[in-house]
Amino acid sequence: MSDEIQLVMNAISENEYFARAAVGAFAAKMDPTMEELSDIRTAVSEAVTNAVVHAYEGRGGKIRIIGRIEDEWLYLEIADEGVGISNVRQAMEPLYTSRPEETHAGMGFSFMEAFMDELQVISEVGRGTTVYMKKKIASSSVARGKKRVIL
Ligand code: ATP
Ligand code: MG
Repeated sequence: MSDEIQLVMNAISENEYFARAAVGAFAAKMDPTMEELSDIRTAVSEAVTNAVVHAYEGRGGKIRIIGRIEDEWLYLEIADEGVGISNVRQAMEPLYTSRPEETHAGMGFSFMEAFMDELQVISEVGRGTTVYMKKKIASSSVARGKKRVIL
């Protein structure tokens, strides 16, 4: 199977749930397990929250999401045109946050890395950030004898 969606939305916290639910509904076509679906939704949520909070610093802008299914692989791109990240390696370290005074744990990228099979972050200061993620939905959950998720 191959399919693709593109979503563009305002970078406001109200859209965190929309992005999570929309990508979840798209990924559900792959017949994932409940756990796989939850992993995908969480990873999307973290990336979108970062765009809302860090990229545009709450001032607003656009977030573009591309979702692609190619056979058993789900590819996601979550892009903003915000402030960008000067040191991506440091930003991706567990517990690193540029906003320790707020309630951020610095775990967003770690969750994305843990829940997806691959994570890549491309960023340019003043230009924005794109988060690329992919996850293999091993085989249909029906074939594995697990309960099918129905949305
Ligand atoms: P948490 O996700 O646990 O609330 P956090 O957002 O600070 O905390 P990460 O999601 O791991 O932690 O991100 C680490 C750091 O990378 C952020 O503190 C921020 O400085 C930077 N960052 C992440 N995403 C973006 C982005 N889209 N634009 C600009 N900076 C970003
Ligand atoms: Mg975060």
